[in-house]
Amino acid sequence: MIPLVVRTVNALKMAVTSWRQENLTVALIPTMGALHEGHIALVKEGTRCANRVIVSIFVNPVQFESRDDLLRYPRQESEDIIKLVNIGTHLIFVPTEQVMYPTDFSTRVTVSGVADYLCGVCRPGHFSGVATIVTKLLLQSLPDVAIFGEKDYQQLQIIKRLITDLDIPVRVISVPTVRAEDGLALSSRNSYLSTDERRRAPALYQAICKMAAKIAAGTDFNAATAIARQQILDAGFNTIDYLVVCDSTTMSPLIEPCSKSLRVLVAAWLGQTRLIDNTPVSWFSSEEKE
Ligand code: AMP
Repeated sequence: MIPLVVRTVNALKMAVTSWRQENLTVALIPTMGALHEGHIALVKEGTRCANRVIVSIFVNPVQFESRDDLLRYPRQESEDIIKLVNIGTHLIFVPTEQVMYPTDFSTRVTVSGVADYLCGVCRPGHFSGVATIVTKLLLQSLPDVAIFGEKDYQQLQIIKRLITDLDIPVRVISVPTVRAEDGLALSSRNSYLSTDERRRAPALYQAICKMAAKIAAGTDFNAATAIARQQILDAGFNTIDYLVVCDSTTMSPLIEPCSKSLRVLVAAWLGQTRLIDNTPVSWFSSEEKE
């Protein structure tokens, strides 16, 4: 199936309206392009839970704190479109910046609480940019389901919060992180890594898995965090923005096990590249692996 490529909100709405007239259900998958197998997993999930699948591709300028980071972000629209052929995508929405943010655009969606920790501290304005674009995309397409990856775990919790708070009639479905064979979470930003950095990068996931296993086995949070921190630095990461155990819904960092559902989240720099990852604390597989 060759997807329809549309660039205006009107064309998007016309397609959705015609599907609605046929009683077809719709899934939306927001992306910033430079598509990889992680994105493709979201599309496949979309085909399982709706009759029609929309993938949006838009590098959202308002979620970047620095212009350099925005300009450096990979853009490969033609390759992305080819990747979406024959995998169940019906429509690709590729708006321009002017379509999404006309000159007189003046609104920001800001989520507090869940957005106040972790990346909310390290990247001021980032989550408000994400919340704004996701709200726009949801209202433009009014899908039955919207699909997001656990790779951006805090973002996922923020989106769930805003959908509940603003009574947006959409069901959120999350998809587990797709990883390379060596455990590195797939990310469009992995293309920034040098060969040497790419070889070192899987240490991030290894360290948080061991940390989660230690916590499940009863190790003190501080002790488990200190060990993981050292493992990450020993692997060659230069700075750790955060490495924390959080309540998996509120995202508030914890220093002791006062919540049943815990998640370890990390953001760290390998050279000029900031990598994020996360993993659940699974109480039922608490065997500590070294
Ligand atoms: P992005 O293009 O990076 O903004 O990501 C678009 C969507 O794909 C978000 O919901 C991400 O969480 C999701 N995503 C990115 N990388 C992965 C991955 N490795 N596995 C699963 N989902 C992912």
